[in-house]
Amino acid sequence: MTVPHNIYIHVPFCMSKCNYCAFFSRACANPDWRAYTDGILSEIDYWAEKLGKIGVPTVFFGGGTPSLMPTDNFAEIMARIRDRFELAHDAEITMESNPGTLDAARLDRFIDAGINRLSIGVQSLTDGELQFLGRRHNVADTLRLIDDAMSRNIRVSADFIYGLPEHTAKSVEKLCHDINKIGLQHCSMYELTIEPNTPFGKMNLNMPTNAEMADMYNIIGETLNLTRYEVSNYAAHGQECRHNQNVWDGDAYIGIGRGAAGRIFLNNVWYEQLGGGARFEAIENSTRTVEKIITGLRTTRGLLLAPDVKNALNIEYVKQNPELIEIANGRIRATKKGMLILDDLLLNLVK
Ligand code: SF4
Repeated sequence: MTVPHNIYIHVPFCMSKCNYCAFFSRACANPDWRAYTDGILSEIDYWAEKLGKIGVPTVFFGGGTPSLMPTDNFAEIMARIRDRFELAHDAEITMESNPGTLDAARLDRFIDAGINRLSIGVQSLTDGELQFLGRRHNVADTLRLIDDAMSRNIRVSADFIYGLPEHTAKSVEKLCHDINKIGLQHCSMYELTIEPNTPFGKMNLNMPTNAEMADMYNIIGETLNLTRYEVSNYAAHGQECRHNQNVWDGDAYIGIGRGAAGRIFLNNVWYEQLGGGARFEAIENSTRTVEKIITGLRTTRGLLLAPDVKNALNIEYVKQNPELIEIANGRIRATKKGMLILDDLLLNLVK
């Protein structure tokens, strides 16, 4: 019997590409959903064969735009997961969605099929900004979907982007007040990063400076009614995304569908895995430990100081930089100041 694995399923289709997007997704309004679903079903069968009827604490449909999927296909995938694995009775089942792809009737069918957490790609509460970002929806579409979702018995999260060329700490503070008024229990606040090979990458945008970005990051933490529990994630108590927390804690997860990544733990060996059968390679335990440190330190609770973690850390650096990194109650975590320079901190921290 092997350990429980979380499941991530990638749906790499979108109505069109947003101006900033470097995710593995392509614009395709009418993909061959039958072929896509059959591929997902056979990957589920493959992993059930390989790992046995393991426990599954969480399932996360990410994208792309999973909410474009026909609801019958979604139900088929969920039924196969229930059949082949031990899906926990309280499993968290999240679907990412975009406004404009999900009316109330479709939302109900997704809920009937099993979703109990909806993550909505809101990005902005201003029509002009949505257009600039290349989003297809407007604020009215967004608020309708949030309303529909919040009036049902599911958990709701929303993604936002800050650090647009016109943004200041003041405008981001206003965004946070508007988010507070909506009454969300969870949201993700992502800093706009300019990726090459995107429309924004070719536009020579006048971006805020690092210091201005840091001010925006701080104002978000001070203004939102929710608590920051990871660099980009905020939640009311108990509303944290369990799937992501499990992954950040270093638990095992299967990536299904092209563009998905997983970490499989089988017969005491860690494997790096990519969906669509693209990769399945053993990795050193020490490599897995470093991954765990990188993701664990992004969370405010930090990570457990297990022996493998301890061995991989430069403890002298921890002792010399108490303003950046601290150890308490058997866990190591970055301080508020350390969070702001996490990439540099990690370079010094890991041996
Ligand atoms: S909807 Fe999301 S995944 Fe699709 S193009 Fe836009 S940002 Fe990328």
